[in-house]
Amino acid sequence: MDTAIGGWHTQLYAQLNAALGSVLGERTAKEFQGLRIHTVGDLLRHIPRHYLSGTDLTELASLVPGELVAVTARVASLQQYQSRQTGARSRPGRLEATLTDGDGRLVATFFGKPHLLDWWEAQLRAGVAGLFVGKVGVFRDQLQMSHPTFVMMDAAGRIVASSEEKERLATLSSGGLVGMYPATAKLPTWKVAECARLALAALGDCVDPWPQWLRDQAEVMELREAFAAVHEPTSLAEAARGAARLVFDEAMSTQLTMAYRRADSAARAARPRPRIPDGLLAAFDAQMPFELTAGQQQVSEAIFADLSQSRPMQRLLQGEVGSGKTVVALRAMLAVVDTGGQAALLAPTEVLASQHYQTITGLLKDLGGGRMLGTPEVATDVVVLTGSMSTSAKRSALLRAASGEAGIVIGTHALLADQVQFAELGLVVIDEQHRFGVEQRAVLAGKAEAAPHVLVLTATPIPRSVAMTVFGDLETSTLTELPAGRAEVTTVVVDAATHPQWVDRAWQRVREEVAAGRQVFIVCPRIGGTKTGEGKGVVELAAELGEGPLSDLRLGVLHGQLSSEAKDAAMSSFAAGSVDVLVATTVIEVGVDVPNATMMVVWDADRFGISQLHQLRGRIGRGAHQGVCLLVTSIAVGEPARTRLDAVAATNDGFALAELDLEQRREGDVLGSAQAGSRSSLRLLSVLEHSDVIAQARELAAIAVTRDPNLRTPGFADAIRATDLLAAGDWLEHS
Ligand code: ADP
Ligand code: MG
Repeated sequence: MDTAIGGWHTQLYAQLNAALGSVLGERTAKEFQGLRIHTVGDLLRHIPRHYLSGTDLTELASLVPGELVAVTARVASLQQYQSRQTGARSRPGRLEATLTDGDGRLVATFFGKPHLLDWWEAQLRAGVAGLFVGKVGVFRDQLQMSHPTFVMMDAAGRIVASSEEKERLATLSSGGLVGMYPATAKLPTWKVAECARLALAALGDCVDPWPQWLRDQAEVMELREAFAAVHEPTSLAEAARGAARLVFDEAMSTQLTMAYRRADSAARAARPRPRIPDGLLAAFDAQMPFELTAGQQQVSEAIFADLSQSRPMQRLLQGEVGSGKTVVALRAMLAVVDTGGQAALLAPTEVLASQHYQTITGLLKDLGGGRMLGTPEVATDVVVLTGSMSTSAKRSALLRAASGEAGIVIGTHALLADQVQFAELGLVVIDEQHRFGVEQRAVLAGKAEAAPHVLVLTATPIPRSVAMTVFGDLETSTLTELPAGRAEVTTVVVDAATHPQWVDRAWQRVREEVAAGRQVFIVCPRIGGTKTGEGKGVVELAAELGEGPLSDLRLGVLHGQLSSEAKDAAMSSFAAGSVDVLVATTVIEVGVDVPNATMMVVWDADRFGISQLHQLRGRIGRGAHQGVCLLVTSIAVGEPARTRLDAVAATNDGFALAELDLEQRREGDVLGSAQAGSRSSLRLLSVLEHSDVIAQARELAAIAVTRDPNLRTPGFADAIRATDLLAAGDWLEHS
């Protein structure tokens, strides 16, 4: 191994992870923060969005006023305008160069004393193409650039080295290709280019971090070459090959991390938890209020098979909202309790944790009432633990978890706290994984002596490439069907701008639904909104409805700023049916289960993303009654936000919507907290565009683990460390 600083095994990683200031100086480094570029490696992986070639003329019609651009165009004509005053030969005048792409026109204007204008005119030869860099403006309906920096080209489109300007522009281009970087006002593209070149030049000794066999199989160029290829390309093909290497590196680093993590957990010993025929699980099955669907049965079998192994289960269970994941998870927990172990169920919100507690104790009946006189012999105790519980309630829950008395411990991330101990934690179930990072999973798993089995539940349908990237260390099962007798939800967009009377009609519909004995959710994007001028929030809307159109109904309010008692009270009175209409924020988004709720009105629906809306409406139509979801918006037809709503209204297929969502959003959002930080490990890799690269990297990572099971390859160790560091940074930012 090379000796490198800062805990890195390779010189290259040490250099790439050096702070940018060490190469560019602190002042410049600070300017890069806006581009989320903090290290030398960040900068070198910040690659041009596209390249301008001296041989192609820029389409002038595509220029947007206000943008800073580099334009390749031909000088069509030149005209000097003298000052009109007499004897003004020495006074400043104006030179106009009309540039053209053959079609459109752009006027480059230069101001100066006559001898300067003459000099410029000599540089800007009519009929010759040049590269002009500056800000596009409009003057008298004409595209215009004042004082562009420019260099002229020869017939082959190469920049000619004759002007003084060449010196400045040299940083822009070599071999006639000019990279256009994503830039900021303070950091125009040529400055980014110059800095990238400095960083590249400062990269010293550069042994490629990937071994030769891997580069051969992946058919990628060397890393140092790749950096040069993207920042100083001599051809577009070369630049593309360079970018391909950098994309591959991101895929490979994540896949290596996943592969070693998989191997690591496979090598850890877990206590096998074989299913027993006459325990708690069997007693529960005998009293279950419904038949399992075929899908639930298959997934359960796979889980039981995993649990009986002496290595820890690492399984992801994905299934549409309402597909019945909870009961599958519960049966896994019961199987573990049957072998003397405990199960922890981690939920993303307090509301959901209490909901799970109620659902699970409700399903278990006296099987979940603890081992007391009169309860069945196989019974266990179920406890809930959340951050806002009273100290005494918390103490009691902690005690029962630590003593092993509680077979099932349900909680929010409060379960991650140090003082939470288990007697024998055998299974960790994580609901709605997208809100938890890999690290949190690890913290919880760390509370067990032997590695616990892990089951992750998610209702967000995840396209396969995303699953491989984010959950690549998990086996995946999917519940595709919904339990029989489930009514479909009809979704309608209510255009409040063009048809304000439709909103009144919506409230009328709410009253009808309640009159029919059903219940209604009204969801608002905000808690309180009028102060910020952003429209109504839960508080205002509830007040307005209570005094106006819904004055005869029993309204409840639920949002994140309420105390947890108030939240629980609101939720349980809605669940009990003593509240007709619950006006709430998205705290009801995940998991909340009230089968009698059949209608949902989403206020300012355009504020929500596709997947979120799909999740939200999954809260209704959970019983036998037809559901209806109204998406209220003032956004006009054709706007992107409105198109999203129309898409949600058009289908109930979560997978189709997830794909659409992915196309519309940056991956960071889709990947959730695990990846979306300011220093995401995925700068260039797109889970949509590069799914084939991801698949290839996944295979190669598996080979890497077999060839090097003990992680001796310095570049592998560094790639994994870098990935973990970035993910940890993301997690810290989001927790
Ligand atoms: P999710 O997958 O969204 O977590 P839940 O587990 O909350 O779904 O299940 C939704 C509802 O369907 C619950 O009321 C649950 O009791 C019910 N359910 C689950 N499985 C079945 C089944 N096989 N038959 C009928 N109802 C079921
Ligand atoms: Mg659920």
